[in-house]
Amino acid sequence: MSDCLFCRIVAGEIPADMVLRTDDFVAFRDISPQAPVHVLVIPVAHHANAGSLADADPLLAGHLLAAAKEVAASEGLTDYRLVFNTGAEAGQSVFHVHAHVLGGRSLTWPPG
Ligand code: 5GP
Ligand code: ZN
Repeated sequence: MSDCLFCRIVAGEIPADMVLRTDDFVAFRDISPQAPVHVLVIPVAHHANAGSLADADPLLAGHLLAAAKEVAASEGLTDYRLVFNTGAEAGQSVFHVHAHVLGGRSLTWPPG
């Protein structure tokens, strides 16, 4: 989708600080990091959010969790938080499914 920011990052049209690139997944550092490690892991295939990915391709959805784990390990993390904001009301701002991999500081829940 040419009007999708993350499809354009996949295509190399917009630069990003890449962490992982496979046939199926791309991972790059968030432009506005919320933790010492803040990487976005996305499937190359365009799906709007985690729910529509799970409906359309549950195998790829599972593989996304494995790719996120590989990214966390490559960043030296055993403990990390995975976040999928799903829908605008939940804070999603880019409508190409992405796992936020967050770590490198204490991330207790609920925050504060
Ligand atoms: P969302 O709010 O949809 O869950 O997450 C979108 C994330 O994408 C945000 O954390 C935001 O900082 C990040 N982001 C937005 N535009 C860009 C960009 O052009 N490059 C990178 N690397 N991250 C971006
Ligand atoms: Zn896209």
